[in-house]
Amino acid sequence: MAIIPFSGSPLDRASERRTDASWIAAQRSRTSARIWPLWRLQPFLLGAESHGALSVEPGYLRPATADELAGPGAISIFLGVGEDDAAVFALDLSAAPDPANEGPLAGLGYFRDARTAAQLLPLKDAAILGQAKALIDWHQRHGFCPNCGTRTAFADAGYRRHCGACGADHFPRTDPVVIMLAVHGDACLVGRAHRFPKGMFSALAGYIEPGETIEEAVAREIHEEAGVRVRDVTYFATQPWPFPSSLMIGCFAQAESREISLNDHELAEAFWLEKAKLRALLAGEQVDGLWVPPPIAIAHHLLKRFSEMP
Ligand SMILES: [Zn+2]
Repeated sequence: MAIIPFSGSPLDRASERRTDASWIAAQRSRTSARIWPLWRLQPFLLGAESHGALSVEPGYLRPATADELAGPGAISIFLGVGEDDAAVFALDLSAAPDPANEGPLAGLGYFRDARTAAQLLPLKDAAILGQAKALIDWHQRHGFCPNCGTRTAFADAGYRRHCGACGADHFPRTDPVVIMLAVHGDACLVGRAHRFPKGMFSALAGYIEPGETIEEAVAREIHEEAGVRVRDVTYFATQPWPFPSSLMIGCFAQAESREISLNDHELAEAFWLEKAKLRALLAGEQVDGLWVPPPIAIAHHLLKRFSEMP
């Protein structure tokens, strides 16, 4: 199977070293360290911005440049150690007004929204970006303790925030989401969200609720959104999805019938897509004005797997 974007990071996360502040500081100051700046959750990319670019390069900085850029409060998060033994960090420059056009980065590159950048970067770099973006986003939204409301402090190279007032520790969270195809004979159930233009469709999806298994969430979501009952849920693959911090859990399920009862609060449309049509769409043919989700989405990979089933 093709690698699903945001998975397959080449870094050794070296999680056992995160609490060792002197080791982290030594890695961060080595001249071989690579520091990837993000500004308002957008990664820095090298070169001139081109909207027609087929591929782009991550804008890693050396420590001296990163230190010159990092204003007060700019956080450096340890992402891991690369195959070349260099430590890799993410640097949050969100407080800077315009870092691509002034200061040491001027003329070197540009910031691009993470979703577009991930589609243009090599897969190994997209995986590092996903980790960086999800962590910076978490820090930006967890500046105050949910237990007592006091400002929290950055700790463990970015993997903990500590509240000095009540002593609570807070850790980066990942929210599980089920995304699935109900299958009935040679067709699978897909839906169009209200925000999608006509012709665009995807697999049904939803957050797992407290006290629910993956299998139960799959069955509940399909029934809530399309009124279809399913059984025999099987696991396909997962995808880290840093918007802001989900784990997409891809599954298949066997539908008991093709009768749809649409919940129009959830979806604009739901329909059964025949395998032959799906194969034609994946081969790039025009079929009924439909568009398959792009490969950045696990839905694409679920649909492709279904199209290859005998
Ligand atoms: Zn607290």
